[in-house]
Amino acid sequence: MSTFWIKNIFLTLVFCSGNAFAAGHHAEKVFINGSIHTFDQELTVAEAIAIHNGVITLVGSNQEIKESVNQITEVIDLKGKMMMPSFHDAHSHPIWSGVDQLKCVVMESYDIDIMQAQLKECLTSELTKETGWVVGTQLNIGVFPSGNVDKSFLDQISKDIPIYVDAEDGHNGVANSKALEIAGISKETPNPENGIIEKDPVTGEPSGTLREPSAMNLVKSIMPKDNDRLYDEGLYFAQDLAHSFGITASIAAAVGERHMATYKRAADRGELELRIITCLEFGDTLFAQDSADFEQVYRNRAQYSDPRINVDCIKIFIDGVLEGQTGAVLEPYLGTDNYGQLYLEQEVLNAVVTRFDSENIQIHTHAIGDRAVRSTLDAFENAISINGRTDNRHHISHLQMIDEEDIPRFSKLGVAANFQATWALPDEYITDINIPELGIERVNRMYPIGSVFRADGLIVGGSDWAVSTMNPLVAIETAVRRQDPDNRVSGFLNKNESIDLTEILKAYTINAAYLMHLEEYTGSIEAGKSADLIILEKNLYNIPADEISEVKVLQTILEGKTVFRLE
Ligand SMILES: [Zn+2]
Repeated sequence: MSTFWIKNIFLTLVFCSGNAFAAGHHAEKVFINGSIHTFDQELTVAEAIAIHNGVITLVGSNQEIKESVNQITEVIDLKGKMMMPSFHDAHSHPIWSGVDQLKCVVMESYDIDIMQAQLKECLTSELTKETGWVVGTQLNIGVFPSGNVDKSFLDQISKDIPIYVDAEDGHNGVANSKALEIAGISKETPNPENGIIEKDPVTGEPSGTLREPSAMNLVKSIMPKDNDRLYDEGLYFAQDLAHSFGITASIAAAVGERHMATYKRAADRGELELRIITCLEFGDTLFAQDSADFEQVYRNRAQYSDPRINVDCIKIFIDGVLEGQTGAVLEPYLGTDNYGQLYLEQEVLNAVVTRFDSENIQIHTHAIGDRAVRSTLDAFENAISINGRTDNRHHISHLQMIDEEDIPRFSKLGVAANFQATWALPDEYITDINIPELGIERVNRMYPIGSVFRADGLIVGGSDWAVSTMNPLVAIETAVRRQDPDNRVSGFLNKNESIDLTEILKAYTINAAYLMHLEEYTGSIEAGKSADLIILEKNLYNIPADEISEVKVLQTILEGKTVFRLE
């Protein structure tokens, strides 16, 4: 954590609360008659709060707040509504996915004909006219056998226009024959390092599915480049969406230099209304086109720092995903001798983690399989043995599989467990892909949120948008119920791994703020903290759990300023 970041935030807040006192204890704004869930240490529920210059100056009863009111104070009656700290999304891809949303989004998740129809519409879009390509995103490959999509799916849309579509998991892509031809991918093309070009077992022809960034980049690197305007628009799209879901802080998990530059441009214009932690992607993979020289971007990252942007984070991909059998597992995938892939040898990972830890960088890893989780924990343990305990607050995202022996290590090593709870339900990824490839016993231990919590691990929540919805309330309901919030699929995924509402709300507020080194400033409603707040349509504590995901955010407030209001 750079002192620059700390100092800037600190000065902003101290200066502001200083003003509050100078003005004689009056507040600019007070909220009264609320059910204000503060998420302070005691989980106090208050009636009223006062705000001045973006800072909470008083939390208490309607009676107590009166002393903050004078003639010019704006008094807002919450009429019993629930107010709570705004949400912090500990794993998102605001610009990366925001840009994607401006492209050809495959909205349909289950009907292949509708997916094709949606892609077909993009043949005539402005962006296609401009670039000569159809570039799609968010394809649900879970509905295709083994997640292996045949290029004929796209060739039926066009054989002349190159088409490339990213899968929603961010780890797979599909190209049509034309795109494969332009990229020079044929039966002779060998798999790139850490990637797979799926091929027909009989003819040897590429199927069209490309697994992991190194293979996807064979096509992506020859596609027309996105310009800065598209990046700016992508960020604003993501920021508006975040505000509509009550989010005021996000960890941008895996960025290249262009993403960092885009956040900074927005901040310089005074238009960045999200607190952002940028995790620069380590090495030379997904954003190779952005950051050909990792070391150079890493060294010069301070130029993108801002009171709202913390650039002291590195993202490391430890393995792939289970649906392509690239996730690293302790026991092989059923019927194979495949243990998946660890992207870095243990000695290399140990050295990398120890180095960044000693440079006071927060490390955020992607780990899906139990072998990847263990490898990461081993690397953190090794770093502690060399550097001692640091305050870098490292964390592991995804955590689909954790071996039982590793569960207590989160607490022991001070590593936060960053779960994407929207995945913790028995959908097609689980029933049609994970059960056949791993067996029911391993599936029955997936996404062990409850176990890590009971073993005193710090639970934080993230959306992984646009892999999944950015709406924290969907994840929160799923974490509580371990069922599909839409009731599209039935049944539970490991009911014993559910956690209670308060704990998962903490994961999206004070716990995530701690992870972001922001707990002194936000994440709970306490005097002296920034007024980062939301007002909800319904009190989450007064409704059945299966209604949580439908609750609307009425207002999102960042530093006392309303950045979203439901029309
Ligand atoms: Zn992600």
